[in-house]
Amino acid sequence: MRAVWRTDADYEATRRRMVWQKRIPDRFPDVIVTVVSDADVIEAVKLARSRGLRISVRAGGHSWIATSLRDGGMLIDLSQLNGVTVDAEARTAIAQPAIKNTEVMAVLSRHGLAFPAGHCPTVALGGYLLSGGQGWNQGTWGIACKNVTAIDLVNADGDLITADAQQNTDLLWASRGGGPGFPGVILRYHLRLFPAPKSIMQSLYVYPLDLVESIASWLAQTVASLPASLEQLLLMGLAPPVAAAQLRHPRRRHLTLWPVTYGDSADETMAALAPLENCPVIDQALVRQANTPVSWDDLFAVEAAVFPEGYRYDVGIIWSDADPAAVLGGLRDRLAETPSIRTEILGAVTGPPTIDPSAREMAYSMAAPLYIGSFTIWENPEDDEANQRWHRDMLRSLEPVTRGHYMGETDLTASPTRARDSLAPGVWERLKAIRQRHDPAGVFYSHIGQS
Ligand SMILES: Cc1cc2nc3c(=O)[nH]c(=O)nc-3n(C[C@H](O)[C@H](O)[C@H](O)COP(=O)(O)OP(=O)(O)OC[C@H]3O[C@@H](n4cnc5c(N)ncnc54)[C@H](O)[C@@H]3O)c2cc1C
Repeated sequence: MRAVWRTDADYEATRRRMVWQKRIPDRFPDVIVTVVSDADVIEAVKLARSRGLRISVRAGGHSWIATSLRDGGMLIDLSQLNGVTVDAEARTAIAQPAIKNTEVMAVLSRHGLAFPAGHCPTVALGGYLLSGGQGWNQGTWGIACKNVTAIDLVNADGDLITADAQQNTDLLWASRGGGPGFPGVILRYHLRLFPAPKSIMQSLYVYPLDLVESIASWLAQTVASLPASLEQLLLMGLAPPVAAAQLRHPRRRHLTLWPVTYGDSADETMAALAPLENCPVIDQALVRQANTPVSWDDLFAVEAAVFPEGYRYDVGIIWSDADPAAVLGGLRDRLAETPSIRTEILGAVTGPPTIDPSAREMAYSMAAPLYIGSFTIWENPEDDEANQRWHRDMLRSLEPVTRGHYMGETDLTASPTRARDSLAPGVWERLKAIRQRHDPAGVFYSHIGQS
């Protein structure tokens, strides 16, 4: 265990390393403790208690709002806990919290298995699963946290306990999408796995931005007839490199439609992608790459280009049941005024949500037929104000059509009810009761900025 206190020479460098993106909030823990074992975590929790320090936790550091950085207290850095063991016969795995999506999928692939890991290569399971976890092949495998069958954690008393279907069931429920305010340090996630798809195939279409209304309306009418194993994303921004190379103006924003599908054979995945060729404006596609067999690494490479490292980000994710064409068309017009060419909007027209709104099996409970992700991305600190203003105004313009938020990527600090607004009615109150039961003294920080 290594502790870096505020007065230590390497404090600021260590603090900055806790956050993946370059916009790092001015919040300063008293001490950052990097742990390498279960025993270290227990010791750290006991040390924090003895010094009266509240605890925050960091796994992969990808929280857009850096929830692990609090003012004061002890930040427990789990970045060294990044292993996974697989029981191929039982189709289960036990994963440590800081293992990254690419690492999980690489290990599972060697066993012919898979998991709905997140789309971004470097996000870690720790915060991802607590957020719910929107990952690959979610239509078939479900939201990632649904496939967590147990967790091992160090609780507020410094005891190592397990939460599963028999014991501490409320903690297991809370860990499935309850968000970054969990009353404990999760050391291991027990995961249910799936046979790896024999064929993964994608298509990529790049269209002029002014076709977004036509394409979004057509998708809204078509999505119900598409197989669950097909996920599709609309990107208004710079086209991914694999397609941009074919564009006349690769440094301008376009509309990319990116469907990916998973199946037992190339015939099956090709058939799943076929309806995308019936898009009424297909003849106006500037790039038309249909039916490309891809690996997990190919998919991760597209995501890495969509979310480049080394930039400053402001992010908002909303769920809406408004008309996708109207919402995306309005956002296309707003994008024309953004100060940064890097800024992008993602949209997914998903059809009716498939999650259980009563949240019986998991805290994760918010979804609607339209997902909008707004990613304001820029380079220089001197441009913070202009970019953040644009971002705020854009999100404000969406308020009339906002039904809820995604806990894992929303800015919790934007509203004291944002966590509640990211869950079905009653779920926030249940989470608060569980925190009260397991951490009455508030040893662990709760969701940042919430009342
Ligand atoms: C580039 C990028 C792409 C993304 N893509 C996706 C995506 O495709 N799908 C999706 O669902 N989300 C996505 N996200 C959001 C991401 O899942 C969340 O930000 C998640 O919290 C990141 O987890 P982390 O462990 O890397 O982050 P951290 O910042 O380390 O953790 C965030 C918070 O989670 C809690 N936490 C983490 N680990 C533990 C633990 N072991 N015990 C107790 N509490 C813990 C803590 O409160 C911590 O402060 C993306 C984020 C980025 C930056």
